[in-house]
Amino acid sequence: MALIVQKYGGTSVGSVERIQAVAQRVYKTVKAGNSIVVVVSAMGKTTDGLVKLATEISPNPNRREMDMLLSTGEQVTIALLSMALQELGQPAISMTGAQVGIVTEAEHSRARILHIETTRLTRHINEGKVVVVAGFQGTSSAGEMEITTLGRGGSDTSAVAIAAALRANFCEIYTDVPGILTTDPRLVAEAQLMDAITCNEMLELASLGAKVLHPRAVEIARNYGVPLVVRSSWTDDPGTWVTSAKPQGRSLINLEIARPVDHVEFDTDQAKVALLRVPDKPGVAARLFGEISRQKVDVDLIIQSIHEGNSNDIAFTVTTPILKRAEAVTAAIAPALRSQSNPKFDEAEVMVEHNIAKVSIAGAGMIGRPGVAAKMFATLAAAGVNIQMISTSEVKVSCVVNTAECDRAVLALCTAFEIEAKSGELLTPNPCTDAINRVSPANPYTDAINRVSPHSSPTPPVRGVALDLNQARLAIRQLLDRPGMAAKLFGLLAQHNISVDMIIQSQRCRVIDGVPRRDIAFTISRLDGENAKQMLTQVAAELGWGEVVLDSAIAKVSIVGAGMVGQPGVAAKMFEALAQQQINIQMIATSEIKISCVVAQEQGVKALQAIHAAFGLAGSEKFVVPA
Ligand code: ADP
Ligand code: ASP
Ligand code: MG
Repeated sequence: MALIVQKYGGTSVGSVERIQAVAQRVYKTVKAGNSIVVVVSAMGKTTDGLVKLATEISPNPNRREMDMLLSTGEQVTIALLSMALQELGQPAISMTGAQVGIVTEAEHSRARILHIETTRLTRHINEGKVVVVAGFQGTSSAGEMEITTLGRGGSDTSAVAIAAALRANFCEIYTDVPGILTTDPRLVAEAQLMDAITCNEMLELASLGAKVLHPRAVEIARNYGVPLVVRSSWTDDPGTWVTSAKPQGRSLINLEIARPVDHVEFDTDQAKVALLRVPDKPGVAARLFGEISRQKVDVDLIIQSIHEGNSNDIAFTVTTPILKRAEAVTAAIAPALRSQSNPKFDEAEVMVEHNIAKVSIAGAGMIGRPGVAAKMFATLAAAGVNIQMISTSEVKVSCVVNTAECDRAVLALCTAFEIEAKSGELLTPNPCTDAINRVSPANPYTDAINRVSPHSSPTPPVRGVALDLNQARLAIRQLLDRPGMAAKLFGLLAQHNISVDMIIQSQRCRVIDGVPRRDIAFTISRLDGENAKQMLTQVAAELGWGEVVLDSAIAKVSIVGAGMVGQPGVAAKMFEALAQQQINIQMIATSEIKISCVVAQEQGVKALQAIHAAFGLAGSEKFVVPA
């Protein structure tokens, strides 16, 4: 006998017939000897309909009233499903988030769960009832108890949080696709089903646009070791397991906001190669990284900054032992990458930096919390450390700094994020020996998935491809190149609760009036675009920054896979797929388990399809997604 939390999404409860089918499945699972808590979404597209109603009345509806409105959708479903179960002779009771005691922050429309009361739930379960809970909603605890919602798609998060709080045996997410596929089957019908994926990979895919799971649900599954499976509510097929390495003994208090950072990591064995002023046209990154991979040079971080005029800078990091080879390959290819027609590009140059180190903060608590990266940048600024490159992923923020400043940076970060040093020992150049994991060449994620899921085939370098059409790019020209600028910029964005994804500083440094300056570009949700632009434009003059430029017509296409570490050629293959379609890459940013490219919005779907095919992810079977 197991305690199972089952979550059914909008399409799965989209009609009376569908609700009756869900009731049958729940009933069957109970009859097999299990206890069930069901979490449901609003029926079909109800939430979209409610949002539309609100915007017909107000262009900028009050967020409290929005929560009052949107939370009604789920309340309809819980009552109907409970009745359907009772019709089958199965005792059941429906409960809103407030009735259960899903206590959240008092942040309307994007509240994080602090705590879940289990008393009432447990009592009903012990009485043999199925408890049907409204997903996506909770109640604030401070002051007057207000209805809150968790953010669109948040019912997944409700379900996994309830599973964690009840220490359920597992959590099943029932939806309109057979599980997690290599990409969105609505855009690529040949997408293939996976039988398992690691939490870290799924965190990236979900955050990069794969809406099959709410990223925060994956974050909770990872942090609390909740076994999680995504399945079709139309079939009995096994679906896709989302595996976590090992359960962590975390407190259930402040469930979604405790401890965003688990580790501080560093790697001093790094060097940077930059190629400045290459032409801004399709195929350049493909040629450079194609040659690099033919020479078996494994690159770590890659960034390509926004173009200035019509030239780009591309920079990458490698480990020190292969620097000479990387430099030679880049120098050899540089002349061929200069534009013949435009003599301006004759200035293209290869720049090598030996003394760099990568310092990172890691942990699954950073999603949608822009303050965490901002705190890292502020900590480095306060320690007088200048940041040369930034790489962000959902579980890690890395900064490339000067080697001489590495120890100072690590110490400051350990203190700021309360990563405890092992008492009394100074074994390595750094006192935080216990908490700091040196970046190891072995891949912890592949180990995890092989361990948890022995049946799955060897991990391919790329597990999935995602497309995000809801992003915008902001660029700030001519930021002063000195410690504290990233802290200032991302601190301001964090204060306005604006999450940033790709962050890229230009490699080119321009000296204006004796002061070195660089451009910085980053992607944010398109909804935040105008606000962020206005806010930053207001402070730009005062801070001595140049122009703030917003581009909303972008698409971000990303590949994700824990197996891409130590595999030269993955980036080259992605860039080559885009080059073959004559798609220009506007920005590149990578982390250990993902590579993202910004392209023009109208080329997004074509880019996704080309990349998906290039990595051999397409299967012969085609998925037809229910309407
Ligand atoms: P629910 O209402 O059940 O929560 P969602 O619409 O939120 O369902 O999520 C399921 C949808 O996610 C699918 O219909 C599919 O179009 C989309 N999707 C995007 N990327 C993926 C992926 N990699 N695997 C599966 N589905 C995906
Ligand atoms: N009904 C909410 C939405 O559409 C929550 C969910 O379905 O997960 O966003
Ligand atoms: Mg969903």
